Amino acid sequence: MSYVGPEPDGFDPDGWDGRGGAPSRRFGGRPVLVTFAALVPTALAAWLVWQVVSGPADSEPPKVLPAPGQSSTASPSQDAKASSPAPSKSEASKSARESASPSKSKAAKAPAKPAGGSGPLKGKVVVIDPGHNPGNFQHATEINRSVNVGNGKKECDTTGTSTNAGYTEARFTLDVAKRMRAVLEQQGATVRLTQNGDRSWGPCVDERAHIGNTAKADAVVSVHADGSGEGNRGFHVILPASVHAGAADTTPIVKPSRDLGERIAGNYLKATGQAPSNYIGGGTGLDTRSDLGGLNLSRVPKVFIECGNMRDSQDSERLTSGAWRQKAAQGISEGIVSFLGG
Ligand code: ZN
Repeated sequence: MSYVGPEPDGFDPDGWDGRGGAPSRRFGGRPVLVTFAALVPTALAAWLVWQVVSGPADSEPPKVLPAPGQSSTASPSQDAKASSPAPSKSEASKSARESASPSKSKAAKAPAKPAGGSGPLKGKVVVIDPGHNPGNFQHATEINRSVNVGNGKKECDTTGTSTNAGYTEARFTLDVAKRMRAVLEQQGATVRLTQNGDRSWGPCVDERAHIGNTAKADAVVSVHADGSGEGNRGFHVILPASVHAGAADTTPIVKPSRDLGERIAGNYLKATGQAPSNYIGGGTGLDTRSDLGGLNLSRVPKVFIECGNMRDSQDSERLTSGAWRQKAAQGISEGIVSFLGG
């Protein structure tokens, strides 16, 4: 495509020294690993392609067996726990768990359902939520305050993770979000970002959800990259669990959000060649969580995508490539287009 992304293609993390915070999950048997690597995307792709062709379904995706020596038990996302390249130690230690804030952004004040373009998604509203904010590192007090996410309290927002060479998740998510916006606007959608580098921190996770709700969005995708250990790689899409507590009631969005998430997973796999996570989701590329304010407080179909693991050397090579981020944006967008019937 002719679209030129907001960041140069050639961000090459220099000085990679292989430091990884978590125990390595490298496998000893290379032939087995190669076989598995080929098998997982094929099996998932076949099922997801079937899903896309046959439309929404209630059935669960088939579980792909984990690689030898690999646990099939999903571990909690490390996105929240990664150390950061941030200026302050206290900020760097903050987790990337998602929370929200009552302050209103420009996006939140925008009128609902504005006129869109003339493509197949004309009349559809898509909200893209670039995870974190490059300025969060300088606003520890603001992002650390608690907000209510229905079934508990979470930090307003978090700094996010980074590659070992210092390319931050917040830069990554904003870049991918802008690329997605270009793709989706070309399809006629009305696209809104929860933040666009136009504010110094946040928004808080409750406000991020509120922006999608106020926009009466037809689909919302929160873009992230994980911060797990070396050897943990691949993508996963996070779906809202059924949560009915306090201000949270995800009951009406659980099913459509799963449909949205499955379509995004399938199209992301096709566009990027990025395999489903080998450490979360049992090889399905899907995970369900009840602890994310951005999902708990959403009243419209919404998912998160962890595009890869910034702390893994193979994944970080992809995540820091502008050409690859364009593929990622294309894949996520195609999933949204499929969901919206474009
Ligand atoms: Zn994140």
